[in-house]
Amino acid sequence: MTTLPTQSTLDTGALTELRESLRGPVFTPGDAGYDDAREVWNAMFADQRPAVVVQCAGVADVIRAVSFARSEGLEIAVRGGGHSIPGFSSSDGGIVIDVGPMKGARVDAQRRTVTAQGGMQWHELDHETQAFGLATTGGYVSTTGIGGLTLGGGIGHLARNLGLACDRLIGADVVTADGRVVRAGLGSDEESELLWALKGGGGNFGIVTSMDFQLAPVGPVVYGGAAFFPPTQLREILETVRGLMDAGMPDELTILVNATTAPPAPFLPEEMHGHPGIAVVACWSGPVEEGEAMVAPIRALGPAVDLLGEIPYEALQQLLDPLLDKGHRNYMKAGYLDALSDGAIDRIVEGHADRPAPACELHIHTMGGAAARVPADASAFPHRSAPYVINMMSRWESADQDDACLQWGRDVYATLEEHTTGGAYINYLGSEGQDRVRAAYGDESYERLAAIKAKYDPDNVFHRNQNITPA
Ligand code: FAD
Repeated sequence: MTTLPTQSTLDTGALTELRESLRGPVFTPGDAGYDDAREVWNAMFADQRPAVVVQCAGVADVIRAVSFARSEGLEIAVRGGGHSIPGFSSSDGGIVIDVGPMKGARVDAQRRTVTAQGGMQWHELDHETQAFGLATTGGYVSTTGIGGLTLGGGIGHLARNLGLACDRLIGADVVTADGRVVRAGLGSDEESELLWALKGGGGNFGIVTSMDFQLAPVGPVVYGGAAFFPPTQLREILETVRGLMDAGMPDELTILVNATTAPPAPFLPEEMHGHPGIAVVACWSGPVEEGEAMVAPIRALGPAVDLLGEIPYEALQQLLDPLLDKGHRNYMKAGYLDALSDGAIDRIVEGHADRPAPACELHIHTMGGAAARVPADASAFPHRSAPYVINMMSRWESADQDDACLQWGRDVYATLEEHTTGGAYINYLGSEGQDRVRAAYGDESYERLAAIKAKYDPDNVFHRNQNITPA
């Protein structure tokens, strides 16, 4: 792999020139605001100290930052929402090109499209699109960036109804390694192969400064929310979800089972606080009056606390945000499940019981529906047939718990491995090596991505990501 060297001392003349040539601010160690500017969501990477952080105000700043990085030989880390699990959006001694301040959006209500700048988070995009009663698939946590999540695939409440976030990406502007702005899309003067690669291929091809999404009518009120159960009901819950999925659950219904610890939230009785518990999070995005019947099988399990009901789509999108705020140490280990077999359910129940820290969670997502109907070669995201994703989300507070919490995620995955497809999902992948990156794509898609990488980034300037080696 060809990589640029990192350096921690910068030419002051070049730095002054950079500052003067940008609209957005530049931070270097010692500057007021440097520590805030370098902060990332995963505290495992809180120690990374970039030589420079550029907070881009627009496309011109991005172009100049890329050119500066290359002339100064700095490793580039690209940041959108800052939620990278393996800490890719920072760099020790390199440059962080942060598009986070770029938050403009324009909704075309007639065409049902939005053009959104690359620094938006999902709650910001939802806010703009819901003003028109429209939405596209985002993630389950609304503080993640639209850039990172969409480029990796994008699983969320609407995935079964509308497809993955990347399935609804219809165009993008990309600043490439040589500082050009390339338009990816399906128009005659647009680069369609690049668009294919952006739909799941991650941040490998350049810095995405804006994205166009196809929207659909959603809400503004949907039916859903969360129901909370004691841990003794985990098996029964998963069997119920399996029954619904096997019976052909409607696409408009998505269920996320979160085997966790009950938070000290005012809506939960005090006796549940801090004890193992199961949250079932549902979203029915079909006609709201049909929602009650749709979640009836979950309700029939007799939740200890039932918060399912009519809810603004924006509120549902933000429901889990307080539980997954920044500052914790985090690790994810995930895979696709062929089925929720009895054996897999046993392993999930055991894994939940063995959690080494209260904030460690197992997430089981229902897939299928519209996401499964997209042909495997229509985008760089090929894993269309698996009905479930399982994610061991290790989350803890202090470094002395690192070993136990990292090991827990790996161990539970190992016990489940025989039930998985073997595929990987880059949005839930740590630094697990090239084999797992390949497993995210399969050989055929990987080779196609490698050829596209060679065209747009032959020197692998953008390598702080789930990296595809240029062909
Ligand atoms: P950043 O750290 O800013 O970026 C991560 C990487 O994405 C960068 O290193 C870069 O390679 C690339 N990137 C980001 N923006 C751009 C851009 N504009 N141009 C080019 N490259 C870019 N995933 C799901 O699918 N569904 C979920 O429900 C979900 N929930 C999550 C909840 C939490 C709390 C967390 C931490 C993660 C979750 N994820 C989910 C995973 C998430 O999709 C990835 O971590 C994603 O990379 C985050 O994107 P970001 O822009 O916030 O991150």
